[in-house]
Amino acid sequence: MDGCIFCAIGSGAIPAKVLFQDDHVVAFHDIHPVAPVHVLVIPKRHVASLAGTQPGDEDLLGRLLAAARRVAVETGVAESGYRTVINTGEGAGQSVFHLHVHVLGGRTFPWPP
Ligand code: 5GP
Ligand code: ZN
Repeated sequence: MDGCIFCAIGSGAIPAKVLFQDDHVVAFHDIHPVAPVHVLVIPKRHVASLAGTQPGDEDLLGRLLAAARRVAVETGVAESGYRTVINTGEGAGQSVFHLHVHVLGGRTFPWPP
């Protein structure tokens, strides 16, 4: 989608520190990390948020979570534990309206958040 920063990262038009990618998803380091490991997993296709997904997107949603698991392994936090976050809507703190999964690790995380 024109003007979407994560579409631009997904297509390679804007550079990012990419961990890995395939035809469907890209995992890249957050530009303002809030934990020693802070990686974002996005679909290459523009979807504004989790709320914008539809029946038929189950495969894509599964790919995002499977990629998050791979991020944890490749960044070395799979054993120590990690948090996966999807902020949906401004009220929940979503600031970039292209669906993304935060993968956070390398420190402890309070609960409730
Ligand atoms: P949200 O607040 O929407 O859940 O998360 C958006 C995240 O995207 C933030 O953690 C922010 O630091 C990150 N971000 C925003 N713009 C860029 C960018 O241009 N490059 C990268 N790598 N991360 C970005
Ligand atoms: Zn987009």
